[in-house]
Amino acid sequence: MDLGIAGKTAIVCAASKGLGKGCALALAHEGVAVTISARGQAALAATADEIRSETGVAVRAVVCDVTTAMGRAELLAACPNPDILINNAGGPPAGDFREFSLEDWQTAVNANMLSPIEMIKATVDGMLERGFGRIVNITSAAVRSPIDELCLSNGARCGLTGFVAGLSRKTVGRNVTINNLLPGPFDTDRLRSNLAHRAGLMGKSPADMAVIAAANNPAGRFGTVDEFGATCAFMCSVHTGFVTGQQIMMDGGAFTGTM
Ligand code: NAP
Repeated sequence: MDLGIAGKTAIVCAASKGLGKGCALALAHEGVAVTISARGQAALAATADEIRSETGVAVRAVVCDVTTAMGRAELLAACPNPDILINNAGGPPAGDFREFSLEDWQTAVNANMLSPIEMIKATVDGMLERGFGRIVNITSAAVRSPIDELCLSNGARCGLTGFVAGLSRKTVGRNVTINNLLPGPFDTDRLRSNLAHRAGLMGKSPADMAVIAAANNPAGRFGTVDEFGATCAFMCSVHTGFVTGQQIMMDGGAFTGTM
């Protein structure tokens, strides 16, 4: 299927590794010029080179922290009028809610709710004027089915989801859609670090914990970043103009609600 987005431009936040990288690569394979960001220079430069050599598209790499106003300004200066915005950032740490301070909560809300809202605010009006826009927020399956030790994530991401539920109905009339991708377990550094935390609580090794977690998923495995990226690219295609404000669960069927 031709996704119809060759020649468009995209900002993919937090994209030197993991799910963000998967999204950037998949968009680039569709001919989208991507501007990617991360805090670490070396991994970001390596990912930019990889995307360029695999796809031949223009790739801009901006070393910045997307959870700061300065970082977002640098990213937007490199790509002021994106057709596509993929919001992403690192997830908050795991732990019991009694361990977390008010500052921990403010950091989580800043990273996983307010920063994506600021990126949307900076880009959505241009998309509306041009009559095309696709915004995808990488959130978490925890938005629909809370994960006990990820209380910061459960809470902060629901705030973004609530905001998007309202705005997405106001933008779709001008072909600007806003949807959320909700990853369950995808095989990334982040998943491995969460599994190591759970392994510690259960007195198991991280490797054993990974085998158990994969076996417990209905698919019997973790998702791959390629699967995640391909779904993201489809959600950014010309074919999804009638889909907005949705929570796209990608969890191998782990969430057992009928609807
Ligand atoms: P990952 O493999 O650890 O990759 C995170 C990427 O984001 C890296 O490129 C990292 O680079 C970048 N990054 C982190 N914080 C940043 C910041 N403040 N500014 C700019 N770049 C930043 O993580 P992932 O598994 O892809 O997860 C991505 C998001 O999905 C996270 O919010 C995570 O909680 C959520 N999620 C993941 C899963 C899963 O199974 N993987 C499940 C549910 C939700 P630098 O460190 O160099 O900045």
